[in-house]
Amino acid sequence: MRKYVIMGPQGSGKGTQAGLLARGFDLVHISVGDIFRWHVQNRTKLGTRIQRYMNEGRLVPDEMVSDVVKWRLDNHDWRHGFVLDGFPRNAAQTEFFLENYDIDAVIAIELPEAVAIERIQSRRLCSSCGLDYNLIQLRPHIPNICDNCGGRLVTREDDTPQAIRTRLLEYREKTQPILDLLREKELIVTAGLYCMVPRVLDALRLFPEDTGE
Ligand code: ADP
Ligand code: ZN
Repeated sequence: MRKYVIMGPQGSGKGTQAGLLARGFDLVHISVGDIFRWHVQNRTKLGTRIQRYMNEGRLVPDEMVSDVVKWRLDNHDWRHGFVLDGFPRNAAQTEFFLENYDIDAVIAIELPEAVAIERIQSRRLCSSCGLDYNLIQLRPHIPNICDNCGGRLVTREDDTPQAIRTRLLEYREKTQPILDLLREKELIVTAGLYCMVPRVLDALRLFPEDTGE
């Protein structure tokens, strides 16, 4: 069983890396942001409560986050493990997480803030299939059209300059400090800016795999 958490500032490509990692080890990719966006799109009760926080780039209040994470992890729908993307993001969430779940490693992607801003601003998303693009590295063949399904590319609603500033500030003030705590517990594997997933995979292979459930 492999249970990983992936952390990194906005624009670090953590979602992409989490996806690759999940494919590499046959893990379930659990993105808290994606679950929240699903609720907003489907106008669920939770969706209407969290929408404003998300659009403004603020962290959603802890009770709502831990309920969602608990519900998702209680599903136990993985055979080989999971990679959790976007949780925990502050001290209270970390406490809740460490008390309730065992994890093998936290992969922390590091990225200077200036690069993060540039990368977020070049990010586009297919409005139809959800595929991610990047106007610097991963351009669509036809401008603004998805290679995969022909859908229209859009910017995420929380990729406005104001919301980006808020999200990076939340990351610096609330998420960054928990890295120290996780480091003390010797759970951290650090991956640099241009680190490719194969390097992360290699690093993780150094961790003895826990064969128990
Ligand atoms: P990003 O990492 O670029 O902010 P995500 O897709 O991971 O994007 O998350 C989108 C939004 O969902 C966040 O800006 C925040 O409002 C909310 N969110 C996601 N995970 C958490 C969390 N662990 N705690 C609080 N809010 C969260
Ligand atoms: Zn598409």
